[in-house]
Amino acid sequence: MFKTLILLFVIIISPQAKLIGQQTSTYLKAGHLYDSKNNTLLKNKLIQIQGTKIISIGEFSSLPKNHRAIDLTDYTVLPGLIDAHTHVLFSQDANEDFAAHSIQSLTMESNALRVLRGFKRAQSYLDQGITSIKDLGNSGLYLDVALRDAINEGTIEGPRIFASGPILAAYGGQIYGVLPEHQNIIDLEYRIITSPEDARNAVREDVNQNVDLIKICADNVPNKTHLTIDEIKSIVKTAHSHNLTVTAHCITNQSAWNAIEAGVDGIEHGINLADSTLTKMAEKKIFLVPTENSRSYMATYAKLAGYEQDEIGWIENYLERNKDRLNKAIDKGVPIVAGSDNYTDIKVSRGQSSKDMFTYYFEAGMKPLDILQSSTYISAVQLKKENEIGYISPQATADIIAVKGDILNDFIATIENVVFIMKDGKVYDNKTD
Ligand SMILES: [Zn+2]
Repeated sequence: MFKTLILLFVIIISPQAKLIGQQTSTYLKAGHLYDSKNNTLLKNKLIQIQGTKIISIGEFSSLPKNHRAIDLTDYTVLPGLIDAHTHVLFSQDANEDFAAHSIQSLTMESNALRVLRGFKRAQSYLDQGITSIKDLGNSGLYLDVALRDAINEGTIEGPRIFASGPILAAYGGQIYGVLPEHQNIIDLEYRIITSPEDARNAVREDVNQNVDLIKICADNVPNKTHLTIDEIKSIVKTAHSHNLTVTAHCITNQSAWNAIEAGVDGIEHGINLADSTLTKMAEKKIFLVPTENSRSYMATYAKLAGYEQDEIGWIENYLERNKDRLNKAIDKGVPIVAGSDNYTDIKVSRGQSSKDMFTYYFEAGMKPLDILQSSTYISAVQLKKENEIGYISPQATADIIAVKGDILNDFIATIENVVFIMKDGKVYDNKTD
């Protein structure tokens, strides 16, 4: 008891104890500030930051005397961007076959090498102002979770990672053509579901390894296997009971329909969604993460993949179809979340490649502010983190960037021109000085 009293006394009179309540503030003067919740641009706002958190947003005149602010008056200040569909622990060349490359990676690339390469890719997102990524599998057995933890504890610098762990999939996963006697290789990359009962255990394994969300492959196209509605229902029920969301990779319309029936929270890709499926998604407020690419990306990809000039007519059809589906989804009121799914090496950094999603959405007709909202606030809502990231507001984490240019009238050039990056209240890059 005496010891406790002495300790209490020391804490009360210690000068350091006083400092704990008086953390110094950092101030940012934003010429334009994007309000991602209300999808509008505000003028001349002062952002106060303490430690890792945003404290207040006020007028320039509220800057206390004798305090200097980081001057971003010539720029547009945005919440740190979010890419909702990444695979930082996987990379393949444009001319490589996905299954063959996966087998090669699983048998010839050690986990240590894979994580180190993944770290470099992850960091390149932060370099581009993408302060959070949702990493959706093809990451071995929880290597994404390890990478996330190393970043969160400050061992290495990188974006905030929301990790799914191994993808839950039906027999064979997405790695087609593997003989029965070698199916154990698939278990190194996917969690193969054999029944609704097994599905429940698979989610428990993920929970036990501290994943942030559950990713499933509702279908395995071009593999013909797919999860059943009952298996997906079991996954959703168990995940939701642990406060985890479920997002479903869907290539066929039927698998998307099954996933929606089973109660998933999001659909990834959804390239073949029928009108009736989109209507149902809008009714149930199920998020769509369209992961297609722009015309210039596809031209680069086709060249690297070895297509001749007269063999790339399909690119225009690809762009038209995706544009049509995206606009139908928007018209019906499906919440759109921005995600790149860029895992092909197109000879730029992964983070740079990821930013192609902005060009794709813009080419497909989305308005600049709507694209920003899809890559900030709506993406945070999908993660159930809208009070923490994707919105510059009091109590949120200070993940803040600034871009140079006219965001409304010169969107692509401006979103590419990131001049200031802050993550967790710490300035990561500042090119304005
Ligand atoms: Zn993907």
